Amino acid sequence: MDSLKKQLKANTYLNEIEVKDDILYYINNIVNAVMIGTSQTENWVLIDTGLPNSADKIMSVAHRRFGKNNPPAAIILTHGHFDHVGGVVDLINAWNIPVYAHPKEFDYLTGKTAYQSVFKEHKNMIFNQEPINIKCVLKELPENGVVPFLKGWKWIHVPGHSPGHIALYREKDKILIAGDAFVSMSLDAFYNTQKKTNSSVYMPPAYFSSDRENLKASLEKLMQVNPEKAIMGHGEHLSGKKLRVGLQTLLKSLDE
Ligand SMILES: [Zn+2]
Ligand SMILES: [Zn+2]
Repeated sequence: MDSLKKQLKANTYLNEIEVKDDILYYINNIVNAVMIGTSQTENWVLIDTGLPNSADKIMSVAHRRFGKNNPPAAIILTHGHFDHVGGVVDLINAWNIPVYAHPKEFDYLTGKTAYQSVFKEHKNMIFNQEPINIKCVLKELPENGVVPFLKGWKWIHVPGHSPGHIALYREKDKILIAGDAFVSMSLDAFYNTQKKTNSSVYMPPAYFSSDRENLKASLEKLMQVNPEKAIMGHGEHLSGKKLRVGLQTLLKSLDE
């Protein structure tokens, strides 16, 4: 009976994966949002905000993990694509907190510019949305690489997938939050834009125009960091050899 109860409990939250005591990612359909911190730490921070209309789901995960009256100190965006900023407007309305991003991403977050879709107009409305405008709460990530409210973390500029794309890294346990710098889920069926590889690591879905040279340079930059564990924007987290070999295979495939 006890084990059945346990199983049922685990199944209820199958879309929440705790990779460290203080790091959990919530799988919002096809995209991950990461929560860093615990109910015991002074602050916690939310990285990315899922697909449109996902704020309620993110909040219910947060309430359970951190308590009802314990909003994050800030939201940090790896980049501004629709599948990472979907919940952000509702969340800042509910929580009244700042949002940090790289300044090169600001035009897309202040209503100025829309990302350029690789699809022809009207082919897929979801990719041709108006940019969001969160100017009133938007803040630049500090130039020195320090991550607000997160001790021991650094942010790394990894452009390519988008101009101001960032990853987050904690040296202590060599954990990387990669955003869409690379992913571990083939979204080919979903977006029909991805090149197939036989690796556990994939290039990010190319539904918006991306810069291939920068993508590759950013991948190399992240490999030099030599992460032991990585949480990506899409797909399951990867560790150890699977992560290392996956990254090497992907990098090699880019030269072919
Ligand atoms: Zn993206
Ligand atoms: Zn994405």
